Amino acid sequence: MKSCAIVGINWGDEGKGRMVDLLTEDYDIVIRYQGGGNAGHTVVNKYGKFALHLLPSGIFHDGVVNVLGNGVALDAENLWAEIEDVRQKGVCVDPAHLKISDRASLLLPWHRDLDALEEARLGSRQYGSTKQGIAPFYSDKYQKKTVLAGELFYPDELREHLAELLEWKNLILTGVYGVNPYTFEELMDWIVTYGERIKPFVCDTGAFLRSRVAEGKSILFESQLGALRDLDYGIYPYTTSSNAIAAFAPIGSGLPSVRLDEVVGVVKAYSTCVGEGPFVCELFGEEANRLREAGGEYGAKTGRPRRVGPLDLVATRYGVQVQGATALALTKLDVLSYMEKIPVCTQYELDGKRSDVFPFPTALKEAKPILETLNGWRCDISGIRSWEKLPAAAKRYVEYLEERVGCPIRYVSVGPERDAIIIR
Ligand code: GDP
Repeated sequence: MKSCAIVGINWGDEGKGRMVDLLTEDYDIVIRYQGGGNAGHTVVNKYGKFALHLLPSGIFHDGVVNVLGNGVALDAENLWAEIEDVRQKGVCVDPAHLKISDRASLLLPWHRDLDALEEARLGSRQYGSTKQGIAPFYSDKYQKKTVLAGELFYPDELREHLAELLEWKNLILTGVYGVNPYTFEELMDWIVTYGERIKPFVCDTGAFLRSRVAEGKSILFESQLGALRDLDYGIYPYTTSSNAIAAFAPIGSGLPSVRLDEVVGVVKAYSTCVGEGPFVCELFGEEANRLREAGGEYGAKTGRPRRVGPLDLVATRYGVQVQGATALALTKLDVLSYMEKIPVCTQYELDGKRSDVFPFPTALKEAKPILETLNGWRCDISGIRSWEKLPAAAKRYVEYLEERVGCPIRYVSVGPERDAIIIR
């Protein structure tokens, strides 16, 4: 059995979807182990262009089994919309090749409401949530106040459980936020509609995976977001509410005893960040607009313009360390082709001193970037498929990053399509 996790090294949106889509060819099973409808993995292939939020990116490969593990925020409504979308475009999605853990918790309609209500309450101090209900969902999961997908098979007990949750949740909706309570009928309508649709896919994925591991099948773990958004290791509180790091993959997947053979960290050739929080290398004005336009940096879920800046090597080194990356995939190198000189942040200045260390989140607000510039290559590299054919300045950029970050860059992506890749 071989196992590999594909994870984000920075703020997310690094191009993990395209890497999973590419590498899935070598694996039997692809698993999503955390997060929910809040992030989107963009995949471009023969079926079209997709922003997958919940479906594992292996869904486009025949013969690959895709699993939503116990660690995901199971948003049945969004998942169903995605299943219908990919089916309409000719992709087969059936219970033989999509399996949902019976231990995954359901994201309920009020989680999205509470997310929006809390952001509205915060006003200008909001976290920049995608309002997909993720933070209220994970809070409830850890309070043991939501339901497991497997409960769909026990309708009587489920009704009782939902009635209890409803009583408690309505106290919060009405008492704290002053909005209308949910009725039991509304909640049951939602459960009947979406619960029944996803039920055929729900099973004991832990047992399924253990049996496949025993047969020597290979497994790819697909993470959402990036190290700097991890709940425990990211820029708290501007994190997501789950663990996006590779170490959580076995736990969130249903294979807690599996050790990862490989961790492929995905890094974009420059920095982007969606939402609020410190972003040391941020560019503004014309320079930012040019990079944003060149990279098409608008949120896959929200369409929001992403904040952009040069590659931040301090944050990237930290991301590589907490992810335990064994190799890197550098994406969107083609986007930098317009630049004559390419700035890179090598260190931070903090309290008048230079530092290589990624600091505590509160201190990050005071950090200033120390930049170096490298020569650009000023030609289109999107058609290049071999390392030898890359212009010398592009090779130098890749090698410089590799040296500074301390991890081999095995893949260099020069376009969104599956084959627009250089494997070193
Ligand atoms: P993810 O959440 O990490 O999968 O990242 P996104 O879905 O935001 O993907 C990044 C965006 O860049 C998507 O629109 C991809 O199609 C696109 N993309 C990925 N790799 C490359 C690349 O090497 N070059 C270009 N030009 N676009 C890329």
